[in-house]
Amino acid sequence: MSRIAYVNGRYVPHREACVHIEDRGYQFADGVYEVCEVRGSRLVDAARHLDRLDRSLRALQIHSPMSRSALELVLQEVVRRNRVVDGLAYLQVTRGVAPRDHGFPPDNIRPGIVATARSVDPTRRATRAQQGVSVITVAENRWPRVDIKSIALLPNVLAKQAAREAGAFEAWFVDASGFVTEGSSTNAWIVTDKGTIVTRSADAGILKGVTRTALLEILADGGWVLEERPFRVEDAYVAREAFVTSATQAVLPVVRIDGRAVGDGTPGPVAMRLRRHYFQHSEPC
Ligand code: PMP
Repeated sequence: MSRIAYVNGRYVPHREACVHIEDRGYQFADGVYEVCEVRGSRLVDAARHLDRLDRSLRALQIHSPMSRSALELVLQEVVRRNRVVDGLAYLQVTRGVAPRDHGFPPDNIRPGIVATARSVDPTRRATRAQQGVSVITVAENRWPRVDIKSIALLPNVLAKQAAREAGAFEAWFVDASGFVTEGSSTNAWIVTDKGTIVTRSADAGILKGVTRTALLEILADGGWVLEERPFRVEDAYVAREAFVTSATQAVLPVVRIDGRAVGDGTPGPVAMRLRRHYFQHSEPC
């Protein structure tokens, strides 16, 4: 079956889908995006993703290309047309096409919009979680506005590549004070030797992950002990458990950091329980 993409108002064969060379996303990374999990052919936490898209667009003063309900319909439609049961839906909005000039183009430029969807093998994802993943640490080198889900991802790309070359799944950024901020495409968590779950507060130096927010609600409802505060790489090395969260990975146990085993080097019980809770509680809509 051939894949279908949505590009600026049209559903087109994926291999023919293209944008103009003067799209400001291409020229300046002047755009934002969202990635939403698809489970049972339905979008998971679409409302939160669209809320965050709205915040990112506002932060960059990019007009929304269409109403919120229309955006959701487009996402549902790419999922349907690509017959995705388990996978992800991607949505990107750029400032649009204009002669290359750094300053914003006139206000009447139409924003560019692209949406795609693809299947992900749920068995592969489950196996990855059962085995746990390795993480390396890299120096934080991103701009301070990582709360905006901008398509300017070069430091994230380089960090992920460094992880792959080191045989790891993810790279955790570490700020100048030695604190872990987040992963190149995930939020970072540890469980201390006392059993406290720790993740950095979303008001400083991280993207406010939708999965992170959903998990915080699960933790609050379940009466888990949580601290939202920065943690050091050294705290992570001696943590009982570590894990990462994202829309594409849900809750994924980390079993090695910079080559050192976390706990006994196997996925921890807290991470695995939270993974199950997350699947039970996050609502496809
Ligand atoms: N941090 C970064 C840098 C990311 O790219 C992502 C993935 N979008 C996340 C955290 C996790 O966010 P979410 O749970 O919304 O996928």
